[in-house]
Amino acid sequence: MKARMMCVAAVASLSCGCAARNGSDHEISAMSAGVRAENCKRTVETLAGFGTRNTMSETESATRGIGAARRWIQAEFEKIAATSGGRMTVEMDSYLQEPDGNRVTRPTEIVNVVATLRGAQPESAGRIYVVSGHYDSMCNDPKDPNCDAPGADDDASGVAAVIEAARALAPYPHDAPIVFMAVAGEEQGLLGSKHWAEAAKARNANVAGMLTNDIVGASRGPSGIDQSRHVRVFSEGVPTTQTAEEARLRVLTGSENDSASRQLARFIDETVTEYVPAFDVEMVFRRDRYLRGGDHIPFVERGYPAVRVTEYEENFDHQHQTPRVEGGREFGDWPKHCDYDYIANVSRANLVSLASLARAPATPRNVRIITAKLTNDTTLRWDANGESDLAGYEIVWRETTAPSWQQSKSVGRVTETTLPLSKDNVIFGVRAVDKTGHRSPAAAARPAKE
Ligand SMILES: [Zn+2]
Repeated sequence: MKARMMCVAAVASLSCGCAARNGSDHEISAMSAGVRAENCKRTVETLAGFGTRNTMSETESATRGIGAARRWIQAEFEKIAATSGGRMTVEMDSYLQEPDGNRVTRPTEIVNVVATLRGAQPESAGRIYVVSGHYDSMCNDPKDPNCDAPGADDDASGVAAVIEAARALAPYPHDAPIVFMAVAGEEQGLLGSKHWAEAAKARNANVAGMLTNDIVGASRGPSGIDQSRHVRVFSEGVPTTQTAEEARLRVLTGSENDSASRQLARFIDETVTEYVPAFDVEMVFRRDRYLRGGDHIPFVERGYPAVRVTEYEENFDHQHQTPRVEGGREFGDWPKHCDYDYIANVSRANLVSLASLARAPATPRNVRIITAKLTNDTTLRWDANGESDLAGYEIVWRETTAPSWQQSKSVGRVTETTLPLSKDNVIFGVRAVDKTGHRSPAAAARPAKE
């Protein structure tokens, strides 16, 4: 959404900057430059080569089925961990799913392959970022463990983007941990993702951002139009978990476009514009596509900010289809329909977002607009961040009709500021900045008496 990133005329006579960030981190540019399309190609072709990765398929064979697929992914993550200076660990996160009367017809072990890259800052402990793709696949019948289901676009492509981002990120230090996941059971009802998110919630983990990559392999859909510059990032505007009181305030203040997931989407849009200028994030302001869901949903259901990353124009002949030809029309999710330079750009979009998140301070907490009396000024307050390398805070704002933050003003290391701008006319947020210029996602301000 580059056109919308342009600075608009200042909405008041106030010295301020464009909300778009500059002062790039050259290490993040170097990581992004390390992403290789040929590695994405190898991952997609290898995973498709296991014939089927249906969650209930063969687990003992070395050449066919979901067991072989996850052992291969585990080995890839182990190779990457060897380059991390001991900061990355790999584990199989599993549980036994009993038949559920839906898409699981027999007791099945659901296994997520999880690689965790530890962070360097002790004060960031507890804040984590998560990126996923699902390695299971399906043919027309999700309950058939034997039919061929190459699942190249859906979703070997997402797994390829995640593994390649891990490969490029692992040798570098980051403040906060990043969890790279290839999950199973997505086609059976988001089972693997739900299991991991549920466990995170149970241990009170602070998942500060989650991206799922699902169907990120093709740069052309049925229209034939070249969409290789575009990727969609879906985010919910009204939080799935909002309380009745939050709903009441939302109606009063028009804050239906300012969930934490929406701020994460804006952050990704800004960051990709900064580091991968040839690639364009198209924010879609809804949780997911019509009739479809994805692995970000178990996260938003537990109050975690999460978005879905998906190619711009899907071809439904190449998803969830038993490979066949009918009346000259070819069905099947084969690697030949994927564009590996495109998957590499999706991987870069993930990588620069994750690195920027993990190197930035945490999003400021408890950001309030003080509404004690009627005034045309706006007073904002928030809690102090704990990072030792914190430089201070920036106020960001936009017109109520604008999709992205438009203006910003640095206010230093304070926890209160008053601006000569009316809260009635714009939407305000606050973000934290460290001494090397990394900025957190913004937190939108909510009304409060003090
Ligand atoms: Zn999928």
